[in-house]
Amino acid sequence: FGRLRSGLAKTSAKLSGGIGTIFTKKRLDDDTLEELEDLLIMADIGVPTTTRIITQLAKDKFDQEVSGEDIRAILSREIETTLAPLEAQLAPDGTHGPHVILMTGVNGAGKTTTIGKLAQQFTAEGKSVLLAACDTFRAAAIEQLTVWGERVGVPVISREQGADPAALAYDAVAKAQAEGIDIVLIDTAGRLQNRRELMDELGKIVRVVKKLDDSAPHDAVLVLDATVGQNALSQTEAFLETAKITGLIMTKLDGTARGGVLVALGDKFGLPIHAIGVGETVEDLQPFRASAFAAALTA
Ligand code: GDP
Repeated sequence: FGRLRSGLAKTSAKLSGGIGTIFTKKRLDDDTLEELEDLLIMADIGVPTTTRIITQLAKDKFDQEVSGEDIRAILSREIETTLAPLEAQLAPDGTHGPHVILMTGVNGAGKTTTIGKLAQQFTAEGKSVLLAACDTFRAAAIEQLTVWGERVGVPVISREQGADPAALAYDAVAKAQAEGIDIVLIDTAGRLQNRRELMDELGKIVRVVKKLDDSAPHDAVLVLDATVGQNALSQTEAFLETAKITGLIMTKLDGTARGGVLVALGDKFGLPIHAIGVGETVEDLQPFRASAFAAALTA
C-alpha cells in the first residue's frame, strides 16, 4: 500500500488539497458544491461520477456542516463503487496451452515495460513465458523487448525490422505449443496515426493466432499512459475500433495528478482493469484493487 500511496501522491495532493481548501468549516451550499464539481472535473474523474457525487451530496448534506474529511470519505466510497466491479487480475490459469496475451497501446504508453514486468511476475509465480516482438515497425521496440527478455531470463522471439508481425505471432504461439510454454505475451505496434493499418495488423495477428488455437488471444490488453489525462478516453475508443480489447492496464500514475482518469475510463467503458503502474520497478506494476486505489487517491 505504501508504494501505491506514494505513486498516487500527485493526484491525491490535488484532490485532497483542493477539498481541504473548499471545505474549511463550511456549510454545504451551492457555491461549495460548484467548487467541488469543478475540482473533480479538473482532476479527470469524469462527468458521470462527479455528477453522482454532487447529486448525492446535495441530497444528503445540503446546508449541513461538512468537513474535508467527510468529502474525501464520500469520494473514496464512490470511486470504489465505480471501480470494484472492474477488478480483474491478469491470471492465466493454465487451461490454455499457451495462454496468449495481446498487448496493445500507443507508442510510449509503457507497453514494452509492462510486458517486461508481467513476464517477471509470471516467472516468479513459476510460469514459463515467451515474448513475441511483434512491433516489427520500430527497431528500438525489438531491442527493448530483447533486453527485457535477457533481464528476466525468458526467451524472446523476434525477426528483423519490417518483418510480418502476424507471421511472427504465429511462430511464437506454435513454439509455445510445441515447448509447453504457459504464457505468450505479444508486443504490437502502436501507430494510431494510421488507424486502418493498425486495425489490419492487429486483425491479422488475431486471425493467424486463431489458426493454432481458436480461443486465442485469451486477453487483449490496452496499455494506457495516465499522464495523457482525458486523451486516454479517445485512445480507448480508437483501440476498441481496431481490436477486441478485453481489459486495461494504466501506467505512469506516479507521474501525474491526472490519475482520476481511471475513474472516468471505468465509468465510460466498463472494461476490466488488470493492473496499474505506479513507478519504474517491477513491484510498481500492481494488481488493480479498487478499494486500495480509492483510498490512495483520496488520502
Ligand atoms: P511503449 O512504447 O509503449 O513500449 O513504452 P515503453 O515501455 O518503452 O515505456 C515508455 C517509458 O515509460 C519508459 O521510459 C518506461 O520506463 C516508462 N514507464 C512505463 N511504465 C511506467 C510507470 O508506471 N511509471 C513510470 N514513472 N514510468 C513508466
